[in-house]
Amino acid sequence: MPASSISAPRRLIDVALPLPVFQTFRYAVDGDPPSRNPIVPGSRVVVPLRGGRAIGICVGDSVAAGGEPSHGGGTAVQAAPRIKPILDVPDPGPAVPAALLDVCRWMADYYVVPLGIVLRSALPALLTGAARPSPAPRSRRVAVIRRHLPSLLERDQLFARAARQRQAFELLESLGGRSPADHLVERLGCSPGVLVALARRGLIALEKESVSRDPFAARDVAASAPLAPTPAQAAAIAAITAGAAGQGFLLHGITGSGKTLVYLEVLREVVDRRGQSAIVLVPEIALTPQTVDRFRAVFGDKVAVLHSSLSDGERYDAWRALRSGERRIAVGARSAIFAPLDNLGAIIVDEEHEASYKQGESPRYHAREVAVVRARVAGAVVVLGSATPSLESWVTASRGGYRLLTLPERVGGGRLPAVELIDLRTRNEERGTGARAGAGILSPALDRALDECLTSGGQSILLLNRRGFASFIQCSACGDVAACPSCSISLTYHRTPERLICHYCRYQEPPRAACPKCGGATLRQRGLGTQQVERLLSERFPAARLARMDVDTTSGKWAHADILDRVGRGEIDILLGTQMIAKGLDFPNVTLVGVIDADVGLNLPDFRASERTFQLLSQVAGRAGRGARGGRVIIQTRLPAHHALRHAAAHAYQAFVDEELPARVKPAYPPVIRLANLLCSGDDESATARLAEELAGWMQALVVRRGAAGVTVVGPAPCPIDRLKDRWRWHVLLKAEHSGSLTRVLRFLATRFEVPPRHRLRLTIDRNPVSLL
Ligand code: ADP
Ligand code: ZN
Repeated sequence: MPASSISAPRRLIDVALPLPVFQTFRYAVDGDPPSRNPIVPGSRVVVPLRGGRAIGICVGDSVAAGGEPSHGGGTAVQAAPRIKPILDVPDPGPAVPAALLDVCRWMADYYVVPLGIVLRSALPALLTGAARPSPAPRSRRVAVIRRHLPSLLERDQLFARAARQRQAFELLESLGGRSPADHLVERLGCSPGVLVALARRGLIALEKESVSRDPFAARDVAASAPLAPTPAQAAAIAAITAGAAGQGFLLHGITGSGKTLVYLEVLREVVDRRGQSAIVLVPEIALTPQTVDRFRAVFGDKVAVLHSSLSDGERYDAWRALRSGERRIAVGARSAIFAPLDNLGAIIVDEEHEASYKQGESPRYHAREVAVVRARVAGAVVVLGSATPSLESWVTASRGGYRLLTLPERVGGGRLPAVELIDLRTRNEERGTGARAGAGILSPALDRALDECLTSGGQSILLLNRRGFASFIQCSACGDVAACPSCSISLTYHRTPERLICHYCRYQEPPRAACPKCGGATLRQRGLGTQQVERLLSERFPAARLARMDVDTTSGKWAHADILDRVGRGEIDILLGTQMIAKGLDFPNVTLVGVIDADVGLNLPDFRASERTFQLLSQVAGRAGRGARGGRVIIQTRLPAHHALRHAAAHAYQAFVDEELPARVKPAYPPVIRLANLLCSGDDESATARLAEELAGWMQALVVRRGAAGVTVVGPAPCPIDRLKDRWRWHVLLKAEHSGSLTRVLRFLATRFEVPPRHRLRLTIDRNPVSLL
């Protein structure tokens, strides 16, 4: 520790630490040894804290003790002589560029989160002391199917006394026939010996494959000749590149209209010609390898791809390359919005309506909202692109907040595919004809279309947004549904491996032989999941090469990209999956898209249920007919008259908005009003309810006393999922006409309302929630 210098005046700085308190901390900079790096706002500093040391960020020089609070709840003021000196300044320059620090300050204010917590999430874990570097493995073993087993009879015989081997083999099949061995072992909870046995029987092969440090770097991207923009694309590119500092654009382009080319050309201007930097946000990197590849094909070494499977070391490497200016384009999911770039010229938010841009834990930010603010602070343009813009962005654009740019047609004169709605309530549609496999799941129309598509050599995509085999298990005698002991959620029945699983907390138990309530022996599987559809498809179309893509088949690092690459190479005939398969895939040979059950998300108690369904159906329909052979879409539903379905079938975004917006007026929901969800949770049911009641009363009094104009308190009420991971959940909604009054009320709440230290009670503030479940 440096000796305190007696000579006045001492320099005092305010430091944000990653602690759950709304204040920054004051430290002294004693002496100034020449070796010490300079301290400016954004510098990392090592400070003494509670007998240990912590890494914080300098947010500025302190005004004299007792002066203006530096942030929110103020700075912890100690008597001047007791102010401790900082211990170290590890970096020669600030880790957080000045403009990014301003954005973090805005986030702390807007989302009501301590600045130190925002800053921690904006920096790689290695810089905040939250992680240590660890070496990544260099090679892995991959299991590949050697012999296909189309006949169920042969399969039964081969695996008569080898149930584990069968599970492993069938899981590998569902992965499209190729998967890292450790992924299979992890999914099945089996020993690697099972795979060795399969290999010995000649059913699979185990191959060695080397893993590069950056898996994206190993993907081949062919540099292709630049395409000439269509007139609509050219107009959008011209408008964006002529945009004023901080200007926002909403690029509404139908599926297949070539939005990516617009992004690429904007970046060519901003990065190549003007020498600035740029950020490209995509919803989930693993699901959009094609989009990412196109940026890499054009900009090569200038691109840093930030994805969730990077190790802490790799993430730090990428961060450093961006901070130093060695790479000038950051492509990544949500957190790439914190890329430490200077001289930012453009921010692109692709598929801006995607819910994955919202972070589910503190800081609960929405990357699109942060992007708009970051662009304004940096003087960059921001482009929000989507075929189905969020109602928030649409309304903002219609009020002049963003400039609306439209790509109304598919590139090359392609048409949007014709969509047929199949009403499953019609008896013979539901039953299908005869005893054909898949009857009851595939309507005759969809069955026929799949058959034709296979015969003609086309590829099909089938969507069912529910994973597992059956969504719940019910006792036929007493009606009891198997539920998670920690959550108020039914357990999903999974077949490979055979388990009952809670999709919220991952609790698992072995399948039940009898009902634990009444002892009844008949347990029915209810509700269809992807595993069951997969099984039916393999029986109905034994020759088809099938791949299933959902959370269960893709926990391996590169499983998504592997499966999608195989679809791209024409090695898969039918790709079945959850919403994952609806994202920006561009496969010209996909001539059929089928939706097994469009109603899955429609009945959720959430005000965005219709919007989500409309977006999902529009997006998945947009995967069909991108090539010269055209395409068709078949959607199975029991609610064909619902506006989300009707308008998705007609590719009518504007008509959907016109019908959906009035539904958000009474009761009022975003974008008509501003919303915050105040979530109370705790170990004890009645204590949680009491906290929620107290909170609602407190808020009510505050609104009246302070005359907070246009703020309404709704609730308290139990959350739709009233128990999660052993915690009870109640909530209170705050609705406001103006953003500013909501900010003031929330800040007052966060700093003044006291949560009693009992029953692990907790209050969570979620501004602009994407889900109210
Ligand atoms: P979107 O993201 O709007 O659904 P994409 O950007 O994936 O559409 O483009 C769809 C397809 O059209 C891609 O295969 C792309 O290469 C191609 N494409 C885009 N613009 C042009 C163009 N101006 N000329 C020729 N092909 C284009
Ligand atoms: Zn659970």
